[in-house]
Amino acid sequence: MIELQEVYKKYPNGVTAISGIDVRINQGEFVYVVGPSGAGKSTFIKMMYREEVPSTGTITINGVNLAKLKMKKVPLFRRNLGVVFQDFKLLPSLTVYENVAFALEVIEAQPKFIKKRVMEVLDLVGLKHKIKMLPTELSGGEQQRVSIARSIVNSPKIVIADEPTGNLDPETSWEIMRIFEEINNRGTTVVMATHNREIVNTIRHRVIAIEGGKIVRDEQRGEYGYEN
Ligand code: ADP
Ligand code: ADP
Repeated sequence: MIELQEVYKKYPNGVTAISGIDVRINQGEFVYVVGPSGAGKSTFIKMMYREEVPSTGTITINGVNLAKLKMKKVPLFRRNLGVVFQDFKLLPSLTVYENVAFALEVIEAQPKFIKKRVMEVLDLVGLKHKIKMLPTELSGGEQQRVSIARSIVNSPKIVIADEPTGNLDPETSWEIMRIFEEINNRGTTVVMATHNREIVNTIRHRVIAIEGGKIVRDEQRGEYGYEN
């Protein structure tokens, strides 16, 4: 469960990116975060994976208050959260397999378990046959699949995605969405910032619209609601 209470975020340069957000997202929900450029979507998303800290207010994720989380506890917290980025952020010198296995190796999981689990998630994203390739040898869609596999390898309860289809062509974007649907169908909460109106209007889910750092709309099975 994710809960934000009276959350404000003012950056050191004086810009208030989030100004008073209260919201609750239950386990298993799929939520789109939409809004114009500069609305505060990324800041909202970044606070959920503790990349940014709120200036005031509380953010509670799976019982952990992120505003109070000590720096050294951040890696532990992030293990229970998958994050997917627009630009994939794969490690360029590691193979597909190694990129996905990495998260399990740092927690010193059993080698046998690592192998089984990595192959399981690579199968889910349809990349079992490319485990030895490097990210540069893959298409954008394939790189995003690897990044999704990496995000779920630890079996997190929540996956956060910041414009995961932003760099992909329409057809590839639909394929990536199918994977997020599958992840959500297995009970994982998905919170996704997106500009993809087609997708939001077709695969209906809760829509939280942010403008000027505030939630201006929050609808179950909502629409994208912007022209671009
Ligand atoms: P969105 O993702 O909706 O485009 P952002 O959260 O990126 O919105 O930005 C919201 C506001 O905060 C914008 O005015 C942006 O310029 C500002 N902002 C974002 N990140 C920073 C930062 N690191 N330092 C200062 N201002 C920032
Ligand atoms: P399953 O028994 O369905 O393989 P796990 O027990 O391995 O699920 O993992 C539990 C949680 O981990 C799921 O709710 C989901 O968050 C995530 N997860 C695990 N495996 C997958 C998968 N193959 N696809 C999507 N999400 C998964």
